[in-house]
Amino acid sequence: MKIQSKCWNCSEWSYNTGKIEERCIHCGELLNKSHFENRNKALTNQLIDKQNSWLVIREEDGRFIRLLKKTGIIVQFIFVSFASFVIWLITILTG
Ligand SMILES: [Zn+2]
Repeated sequence: MKIQSKCWNCSEWSYNTGKIEERCIHCGELLNKSHFENRNKALTNQLIDKQNSWLVIREEDGRFIRLLKKTGIIVQFIFVSFASFVIWLITILTG
């Protein structure tokens, strides 16, 4: 569905299909600049969170820390698998 949006940069009207990367047909500026920036900020924060996770094994980690992190990953996997199984079992038993 196409809607018209007023460009924040040149104040001309352009068609906007709702895509985040939609650009003004007059000046080429992003129509949804705040949405684009928010999405980029969210992706950056997601990447930073992933890099700062204590389970990520880094090159500078010692052997003991690596072993501890690998154990943590395995325990996390077992916990999530068990929790998923319990949820599945409860769903099957009640349904
Ligand atoms: Zn424009």
